[in-house]
Amino acid sequence: MKIIDRISSIYREKFGRSPAHIARAPGRVNLLGEHVDYNNGYVLPAAIDRATYVAFSPINARHSTLIAADFNQQASFSAETVPSKTQPDESLLPEWAHYPASVVWSLMEENLPILSMNAVFASNIPQGSGLSSSASIEMAFMIAWQTIGSWSLTPMQRALLGQKAENNYVGVNCGIMDQFASACGVENKLLLLDCRSLEWKTIPLPEDVSIVIADTTIHRKLTSGAYNDRRSDCDDAVRLLQQDLPNIKSLRDVSVEEFNQLAKKIPGKIERRARHVVEEIERSNQAEALLEAGDVKSFGKLMNECHMSLRDLYEVSIPELDTMVDLAQSLDGCYGARLTGAGFGGCTVNLVAKENVEDFAQTLSMGYEVETGLHPEIYISHASNGAELIKR
Ligand code: ADP
Ligand code: MG
Repeated sequence: MKIIDRISSIYREKFGRSPAHIARAPGRVNLLGEHVDYNNGYVLPAAIDRATYVAFSPINARHSTLIAADFNQQASFSAETVPSKTQPDESLLPEWAHYPASVVWSLMEENLPILSMNAVFASNIPQGSGLSSSASIEMAFMIAWQTIGSWSLTPMQRALLGQKAENNYVGVNCGIMDQFASACGVENKLLLLDCRSLEWKTIPLPEDVSIVIADTTIHRKLTSGAYNDRRSDCDDAVRLLQQDLPNIKSLRDVSVEEFNQLAKKIPGKIERRARHVVEEIERSNQAEALLEAGDVKSFGKLMNECHMSLRDLYEVSIPELDTMVDLAQSLDGCYGARLTGAGFGGCTVNLVAKENVEDFAQTLSMGYEVETGLHPEIYISHASNGAELIKR
Protein backbone atom coordinates (compact mmCIF):
# COMPACT_ATOMS: atom_id res chain seq x y z
CA MET A 1 0.00 0.00 0.00
CA LYS A 2 1.51 3.28 -1.15
CA ILE A 3 0.57 5.54 1.74
CA ILE A 4 2.14 3.15 4.28
CA ASP A 5 5.37 3.00 2.25
CA ARG A 6 5.41 6.78 2.07
CA ILE A 7 5.03 7.42 5.80
CA SER A 8 7.45 4.59 6.64
CA SER A 9 10.08 6.02 4.34
CA ILE A 10 9.63 9.57 5.70
CA TYR A 11 9.86 8.10 9.19
CA ARG A 12 13.17 6.38 8.37
CA GLU A 13 14.55 9.49 6.72
CA LYS A 14 13.60 11.73 9.63
CA PHE A 15 14.13 9.49 12.65
CA GLY A 16 16.85 7.16 11.33
CA ARG A 17 15.05 3.86 11.89
CA SER A 18 11.87 2.01 10.93
CA PRO A 19 8.66 2.81 12.81
CA ALA A 20 7.71 0.20 15.40
CA HIS A 21 3.98 0.34 14.60
CA ILE A 22 1.44 1.54 12.10
CA ALA A 23 -2.15 2.46 12.96
CA ARG A 24 -4.99 3.31 10.64
CA ALA A 25 -8.37 4.92 11.24
CA PRO A 26 -10.98 5.43 8.52
CA GLY A 27 -13.16 8.34 7.52
CA ARG A 28 -16.90 7.82 7.48
CA VAL A 29 -20.01 8.50 5.47
CA ASN A 30 -23.54 8.64 6.81
CA LEU A 31 -26.23 6.81 4.82
CA LEU A 32 -29.27 7.92 6.81
CA GLY A 33 -30.11 9.90 9.94
CA GLU A 34 -28.79 13.38 9.11
CA HIS A 35 -28.81 16.18 11.66
CA VAL A 36 -30.40 13.85 14.18
CA ASP A 37 -27.39 12.94 16.33
CA TYR A 38 -27.80 16.06 18.47
CA ASN A 39 -31.53 15.29 18.72
CA ASN A 40 -30.79 11.88 20.26
CA GLY A 41 -31.94 10.00 17.14
CA TYR A 42 -30.41 7.13 15.15
CA VAL A 43 -27.62 7.42 12.59
CA LEU A 44 -26.57 4.89 9.98
CA PRO A 45 -22.96 5.56 9.01
CA ALA A 46 -20.23 3.32 7.62
CA ALA A 47 -16.48 3.60 7.98
CA ILE A 48 -15.04 4.01 4.47
CA ASP A 49 -11.97 2.59 2.78
CA ARG A 50 -10.08 5.87 3.04
CA ALA A 51 -8.11 6.45 6.18
CA THR A 52 -5.41 8.24 8.13
CA TYR A 53 -2.26 6.17 8.68
CA VAL A 54 0.23 6.82 11.48
CA ALA A 55 3.74 5.30 11.63
CA PHE A 56 5.04 5.63 15.18
CA SER A 57 7.43 4.43 17.87
CA PRO A 58 7.61 5.14 21.60
CA ILE A 59 10.63 7.27 22.53
CA ASN A 60 12.38 8.08 25.73
CA ALA A 61 12.02 11.86 25.55
CA ARG A 62 10.01 14.68 27.06
CA HIS A 63 8.20 15.65 23.88
CA SER A 64 6.43 13.84 21.10
CA THR A 65 7.42 14.88 17.59
CA LEU A 66 4.85 14.50 14.82
CA ILE A 67 5.23 14.99 11.09
CA ALA A 68 2.19 15.72 8.93
CA ALA A 69 3.50 14.20 5.70
CA ASP A 70 0.73 15.73 3.58
CA PHE A 71 1.73 19.23 4.71
CA ASN A 72 5.46 18.55 5.06
CA GLN A 73 5.31 20.08 8.53
CA GLN A 74 6.52 19.07 11.96
CA ALA A 75 5.28 19.87 15.46
CA SER A 76 6.27 18.86 18.98
CA PHE A 77 4.32 18.85 22.22
CA SER A 78 4.20 17.22 25.63
CA ALA A 79 1.66 16.93 28.41
CA GLU A 80 3.02 20.24 29.76
CA THR A 81 2.61 22.19 26.50
CA VAL A 82 -0.66 20.65 25.27
CA PRO A 83 -3.01 22.72 27.49
CA SER A 84 -1.60 26.00 26.11
CA LYS A 85 -1.60 24.65 22.50
CA THR A 86 2.11 25.43 22.26
CA GLN A 87 5.37 23.72 21.36
CA PRO A 88 8.41 23.40 23.62
CA ASP A 89 9.90 26.56 22.05
CA GLU A 90 6.66 28.35 23.05
CA SER A 91 5.52 28.86 19.46
CA LEU A 92 1.88 28.00 18.79
CA LEU A 93 0.95 24.53 17.56
CA PRO A 94 -0.08 24.53 13.90
CA GLU A 95 -3.80 23.90 13.41
CA TRP A 96 -3.39 20.31 12.17
CA ALA A 97 -1.52 19.42 15.37
CA HIS A 98 -4.55 20.38 17.47
CA TYR A 99 -6.16 17.05 16.48
CA PRO A 100 -3.42 14.72 17.81
CA ALA A 101 -2.79 17.10 20.72
CA SER A 102 -6.51 16.96 21.57
CA VAL A 103 -6.13 13.21 22.01
CA VAL A 104 -3.34 13.76 24.55
CA TRP A 105 -5.50 16.37 26.27
CA SER A 106 -8.41 13.91 26.60
CA LEU A 107 -6.12 11.13 27.89
CA MET A 108 -4.74 13.52 30.51
CA GLU A 109 -8.32 14.18 31.66
CA GLU A 110 -8.66 10.42 32.22
CA ASN A 111 -5.30 10.17 33.99
CA LEU A 112 -4.09 7.61 31.46
CA PRO A 113 -0.32 7.27 31.00
CA ILE A 114 0.94 9.17 27.97
CA LEU A 115 4.34 8.16 26.63
CA SER A 116 6.20 10.25 24.07
CA MET A 117 6.37 9.16 20.45
CA ASN A 118 7.88 9.98 17.12
CA ALA A 119 5.23 9.78 14.43
CA VAL A 120 4.62 10.42 10.76
CA PHE A 121 1.06 10.49 9.48
CA ALA A 122 -0.77 10.93 6.20
CA SER A 123 -4.32 10.48 4.97
CA ASN A 124 -6.19 9.82 1.76
CA ILE A 125 -9.44 11.27 3.13
CA PRO A 126 -10.16 14.62 1.52
CA GLN A 127 -10.02 17.37 4.13
CA GLY A 128 -13.07 19.41 5.00
CA SER A 129 -15.34 17.44 2.64
CA GLY A 130 -17.47 16.04 5.43
CA LEU A 131 -15.85 12.59 5.44
CA SER A 132 -14.38 13.21 8.90
CA SER A 133 -10.69 13.45 8.22
CA SER A 134 -10.49 15.11 11.64
CA ALA A 135 -12.10 12.21 13.56
CA SER A 136 -9.88 9.76 11.70
CA ILE A 137 -6.75 11.59 12.86
CA GLU A 138 -8.04 11.50 16.43
CA MET A 139 -8.91 7.80 16.29
CA ALA A 140 -5.61 6.84 14.64
CA PHE A 141 -3.66 8.67 17.36
CA MET A 142 -5.88 7.11 20.05
CA ILE A 143 -4.68 3.71 18.81
CA ALA A 144 -1.11 4.99 18.70
CA TRP A 145 -1.12 6.29 22.29
CA GLN A 146 -3.00 3.24 23.49
CA THR A 147 -0.39 0.97 21.90
CA ILE A 148 2.62 2.61 23.54
CA GLY A 149 0.79 3.41 26.81
CA SER A 150 -0.18 -0.22 27.40
CA TRP A 151 -3.70 0.63 28.45
CA SER A 152 -6.81 -0.43 26.63
CA LEU A 153 -10.15 1.22 26.06
CA THR A 154 -13.09 -0.09 24.06
CA PRO A 155 -13.64 1.45 20.62
CA MET A 156 -16.70 3.33 21.97
CA GLN A 157 -14.68 4.70 24.90
CA ARG A 158 -12.04 5.94 22.47
CA ALA A 159 -14.76 7.50 20.33
CA LEU A 160 -16.26 9.33 23.31
CA LEU A 161 -12.88 10.65 24.36
CA GLY A 162 -12.22 11.77 20.78
CA GLN A 163 -15.53 13.60 20.65
CA LYS A 164 -14.75 15.31 23.95
CA ALA A 165 -11.34 16.24 22.57
CA GLU A 166 -12.79 17.74 19.39
CA ASN A 167 -15.55 19.57 21.33
CA ASN A 168 -13.44 20.97 24.12
CA TYR A 169 -9.89 21.19 22.80
CA VAL A 170 -10.24 21.76 19.05
CA GLY A 171 -13.46 23.67 19.66
CA VAL A 172 -15.74 21.98 17.11
CA ASN A 173 -19.21 21.13 18.37
CA CYS A 174 -19.57 17.71 16.67
CA GLY A 175 -21.84 14.86 17.75
CA ILE A 176 -20.58 11.34 18.48
CA MET A 177 -21.17 9.86 15.00
CA ASP A 178 -17.82 10.76 13.39
CA GLN A 179 -15.56 9.29 16.04
CA PHE A 180 -17.95 6.37 16.59
CA ALA A 181 -17.87 5.29 12.94
CA SER A 182 -14.11 5.71 12.68
CA ALA A 183 -13.59 3.69 15.87
CA CYS A 184 -16.25 1.00 15.45
CA GLY A 185 -16.47 0.40 11.67
CA VAL A 186 -16.99 -3.16 10.41
CA GLU A 187 -16.03 -4.40 6.95
CA ASN A 188 -19.01 -4.48 4.55
CA LYS A 189 -21.51 -3.41 7.22
CA LEU A 190 -23.44 -0.28 8.00
CA LEU A 191 -23.53 0.76 11.64
CA LEU A 192 -26.79 1.65 13.37
CA LEU A 193 -26.15 3.86 16.39
CA ASP A 194 -28.71 5.02 18.91
CA CYS A 195 -27.28 8.44 19.79
CA ARG A 196 -29.13 8.47 23.10
CA SER A 197 -28.19 5.10 24.62
CA LEU A 198 -25.03 4.68 22.47
CA GLU A 199 -26.13 1.13 21.77
CA TRP A 200 -25.16 0.05 18.28
CA LYS A 201 -25.26 -2.87 15.92
CA THR A 202 -24.17 -3.72 12.42
CA ILE A 203 -26.62 -3.84 9.52
CA PRO A 204 -25.89 -5.83 6.37
CA LEU A 205 -25.42 -4.16 3.01
CA PRO A 206 -25.90 -6.50 0.04
CA GLU A 207 -22.66 -7.48 -1.70
CA ASP A 208 -23.83 -6.27 -5.09
CA VAL A 209 -24.20 -2.66 -3.91
CA SER A 210 -21.46 -0.01 -3.78
CA ILE A 211 -21.28 3.12 -1.69
CA VAL A 212 -20.33 5.96 -4.02
CA ILE A 213 -19.27 9.29 -2.58
CA ALA A 214 -19.34 12.34 -4.83
CA ASP A 215 -17.51 15.46 -3.68
CA THR A 216 -19.02 18.67 -5.05
CA THR A 217 -15.63 20.32 -4.30
CA ILE A 218 -17.55 23.17 -2.68
CA HIS A 219 -16.02 23.38 0.74
CA ARG A 220 -18.34 24.50 3.40
CA LYS A 221 -18.28 28.14 4.27
CA LEU A 222 -20.30 29.73 7.08
CA THR A 223 -21.30 26.31 8.37
CA SER A 224 -20.70 26.67 12.07
CA GLY A 225 -23.15 29.58 12.37
CA ALA A 226 -25.80 27.78 10.32
CA TYR A 227 -25.19 24.54 12.23
CA ASN A 228 -25.60 26.27 15.60
CA ASP A 229 -28.77 27.97 14.31
CA ARG A 230 -30.24 24.58 13.40
CA ARG A 231 -29.37 23.21 16.81
CA SER A 232 -31.05 26.08 18.59
CA ASP A 233 -34.13 25.79 16.31
CA CYS A 234 -34.43 22.18 17.47
CA ASP A 235 -34.11 23.25 21.12
CA ASP A 236 -36.81 25.88 20.56
CA ALA A 237 -39.08 23.25 19.02
CA VAL A 238 -38.63 20.99 22.05
CA ARG A 239 -39.51 23.86 24.41
CA LEU A 240 -42.67 24.68 22.42
CA LEU A 241 -43.73 21.04 22.17
CA GLN A 242 -43.17 20.53 25.90
CA GLN A 243 -46.23 22.72 26.55
CA ASP A 244 -48.34 19.81 25.29
CA LEU A 245 -45.88 16.96 25.77
CA PRO A 246 -44.23 17.76 29.11
CA ASN A 247 -42.29 14.50 29.22
CA ILE A 248 -40.26 14.92 26.04
CA LYS A 249 -36.57 15.61 26.40
CA SER A 250 -35.67 15.90 22.73
CA LEU A 251 -37.28 15.59 19.28
CA ARG A 252 -36.47 11.89 19.48
CA ASP A 253 -39.38 11.55 21.89
CA VAL A 254 -41.97 12.97 19.47
CA SER A 255 -43.76 10.69 16.99
CA VAL A 256 -44.70 11.89 13.51
CA GLU A 257 -48.36 11.61 14.53
CA GLU A 258 -47.93 13.77 17.62
CA PHE A 259 -45.91 16.25 15.65
CA ASN A 260 -48.59 16.57 12.96
CA GLN A 261 -51.17 17.31 15.62
CA LEU A 262 -49.09 20.04 17.26
CA ALA A 263 -47.32 21.46 14.21
CA LYS A 264 -49.69 24.39 13.79
CA LYS A 265 -48.65 25.74 17.18
CA ILE A 266 -45.03 26.11 16.05
CA PRO A 267 -43.77 29.03 13.94
CA GLY A 268 -42.95 28.14 10.29
CA LYS A 269 -39.18 27.97 10.31
CA ILE A 270 -38.94 26.02 13.57
CA GLU A 271 -41.74 23.75 12.41
CA ARG A 272 -39.81 22.89 9.22
CA ARG A 273 -36.59 22.16 11.11
CA ALA A 274 -38.35 19.97 13.67
CA ARG A 275 -40.38 18.17 11.00
CA HIS A 276 -37.17 17.16 9.25
CA VAL A 277 -35.81 15.71 12.48
CA VAL A 278 -38.97 13.89 13.52
CA GLU A 279 -39.51 12.38 10.05
CA GLU A 280 -35.83 11.55 9.61
CA ILE A 281 -35.83 9.63 12.89
CA GLU A 282 -38.91 7.75 11.62
CA ARG A 283 -37.06 6.96 8.37
CA SER A 284 -34.05 5.61 10.23
CA ASN A 285 -36.42 3.50 12.32
CA GLN A 286 -37.63 1.84 9.12
CA ALA A 287 -34.14 1.32 7.70
CA GLU A 288 -33.11 -1.63 9.82
CA ALA A 289 -35.95 -3.95 8.78
CA LEU A 290 -35.58 -2.97 5.12
CA LEU A 291 -31.86 -3.70 5.01
CA GLU A 292 -32.20 -6.88 7.05
CA ALA A 293 -34.64 -8.02 4.36
CA GLY A 294 -32.20 -6.99 1.61
CA ASP A 295 -34.64 -4.36 0.30
CA VAL A 296 -32.10 -1.82 -0.94
CA LYS A 297 -34.67 -0.31 -3.27
CA SER A 298 -36.93 0.85 -0.45
CA PHE A 299 -33.96 1.92 1.63
CA GLY A 300 -32.73 4.01 -1.32
CA LYS A 301 -36.11 5.73 -1.44
CA LEU A 302 -35.62 6.77 2.18
CA MET A 303 -32.27 8.29 1.19
CA ASN A 304 -33.97 10.26 -1.60
CA GLU A 305 -36.65 11.47 0.83
CA CYS A 306 -33.93 12.46 3.25
CA HIS A 307 -32.34 14.67 0.61
CA MET A 308 -35.63 16.40 -0.18
CA SER A 309 -36.16 17.02 3.50
CA LEU A 310 -32.65 18.41 4.04
CA ARG A 311 -33.17 20.64 1.01
CA ASP A 312 -36.69 21.93 1.68
CA LEU A 313 -37.22 21.62 5.43
CA TYR A 314 -33.82 21.76 7.08
CA GLU A 315 -32.47 24.03 4.32
CA VAL A 316 -28.87 22.89 4.44
CA SER A 317 -28.41 22.05 0.75
CA ILE A 318 -26.87 24.21 -1.96
CA PRO A 319 -27.45 24.16 -5.75
CA GLU A 320 -24.31 22.07 -6.41
CA LEU A 321 -25.46 19.36 -3.99
CA ASP A 322 -28.93 19.37 -5.55
CA THR A 323 -27.43 19.09 -9.04
CA MET A 324 -25.26 16.13 -7.97
CA VAL A 325 -28.24 14.39 -6.35
CA ASP A 326 -30.66 15.04 -9.23
CA LEU A 327 -28.17 13.69 -11.76
CA ALA A 328 -27.41 10.62 -9.65
CA GLN A 329 -31.06 9.77 -9.10
CA SER A 330 -31.62 9.79 -12.89
CA LEU A 331 -28.86 7.23 -13.57
CA ASP A 332 -29.16 3.46 -14.02
CA GLY A 333 -28.42 1.38 -10.97
CA CYS A 334 -28.80 4.23 -8.46
CA TYR A 335 -30.97 3.14 -5.53
CA GLY A 336 -30.66 6.35 -3.58
CA ALA A 337 -28.71 9.60 -3.45
CA ARG A 338 -28.54 12.42 -0.96
CA LEU A 339 -26.27 15.04 0.52
CA THR A 340 -24.34 13.67 3.47
CA GLY A 341 -22.88 15.46 6.47
CA ALA A 342 -23.77 18.89 7.73
CA GLY A 343 -24.52 20.32 4.27
CA PHE A 344 -23.66 23.65 2.58
CA GLY A 345 -21.12 21.80 0.44
CA GLY A 346 -19.11 18.63 0.76
CA CYS A 347 -20.28 15.29 -0.54
CA THR A 348 -23.28 13.29 -1.63
CA VAL A 349 -23.64 9.60 -0.82
CA ASN A 350 -25.12 7.19 -3.33
CA LEU A 351 -26.06 3.52 -3.21
CA VAL A 352 -25.39 2.01 -6.62
CA ALA A 353 -25.67 -1.49 -8.09
CA LYS A 354 -22.12 -2.83 -8.53
CA GLU A 355 -22.70 -3.73 -12.15
CA ASN A 356 -23.49 -0.07 -12.95
CA VAL A 357 -20.96 1.60 -10.73
CA GLU A 358 -18.22 2.47 -13.26
CA ASP A 359 -20.71 3.96 -15.73
CA PHE A 360 -22.49 5.73 -12.89
CA ALA A 361 -19.30 7.39 -11.67
CA GLN A 362 -18.27 8.48 -15.13
CA THR A 363 -21.66 9.83 -16.20
CA LEU A 364 -22.18 11.61 -12.89
CA SER A 365 -18.78 13.23 -13.10
CA MET A 366 -19.32 14.42 -16.67
CA GLY A 367 -22.86 15.62 -16.04
CA TYR A 368 -21.84 17.58 -12.96
CA GLU A 369 -18.97 19.19 -14.81
CA VAL A 370 -21.24 20.23 -17.70
CA GLU A 371 -23.83 21.74 -15.34
CA THR A 372 -21.54 23.46 -12.86
CA GLY A 373 -18.18 23.90 -14.57
CA LEU A 374 -16.63 22.14 -11.56
CA HIS A 375 -14.68 18.90 -11.68
CA PRO A 376 -16.01 16.62 -8.93
CA GLU A 377 -14.15 13.84 -7.13
CA ILE A 378 -15.99 10.52 -7.16
CA TYR A 379 -14.97 7.75 -4.77
CA ILE A 380 -16.26 4.24 -5.26
CA SER A 381 -16.07 3.00 -1.72
CA HIS A 382 -17.07 0.19 0.58
CA ALA A 383 -17.60 -0.18 4.30
CA SER A 384 -14.36 -0.88 6.13
CA ASN A 385 -13.08 -1.80 9.57
CA GLY A 386 -12.65 0.81 12.28
CA ALA A 387 -9.43 2.13 13.80
CA GLU A 388 -6.82 -0.58 14.29
CA LEU A 389 -3.17 -1.35 14.67
CA ILE A 390 -2.02 -2.80 11.37
CA LYS A 391 1.65 -3.37 12.23
CA ARG A 392 2.75 -4.38 15.69
P1 ADP B 1 -13.51 16.95 7.98
O1 ADP B 1 -14.92 17.00 7.49
O2 ADP B 1 -12.61 16.40 6.92
O3 ADP B 1 -13.37 16.28 9.29
P2 ADP B 1 -12.62 19.22 9.49
O4 ADP B 1 -12.64 20.67 9.20
O5 ADP B 1 -13.33 18.72 10.68
O6 ADP B 1 -13.09 18.48 8.17
O7 ADP B 1 -11.09 18.74 9.65
C1 ADP B 1 -10.13 19.15 8.69
C2 ADP B 1 -8.84 19.49 9.39
O8 ADP B 1 -8.20 18.29 9.86
C3 ADP B 1 -7.81 20.13 8.48
O9 ADP B 1 -7.99 21.54 8.42
C4 ADP B 1 -6.49 19.75 9.15
O10 ADP B 1 -6.20 20.61 10.24
C5 ADP B 1 -6.80 18.37 9.70
N1 ADP B 1 -6.38 17.39 8.69
C6 ADP B 1 -7.18 16.67 7.87
N2 ADP B 1 -6.46 15.85 7.08
C7 ADP B 1 -5.16 16.06 7.40
C8 ADP B 1 -3.93 15.51 6.91
N3 ADP B 1 -3.91 14.62 5.93
N4 ADP B 1 -2.79 15.95 7.49
C9 ADP B 1 -2.83 16.86 8.49
N5 ADP B 1 -3.95 17.40 8.98
C10 ADP B 1 -5.12 17.02 8.43
MG1 MG C 1 -14.34 16.94 11.08
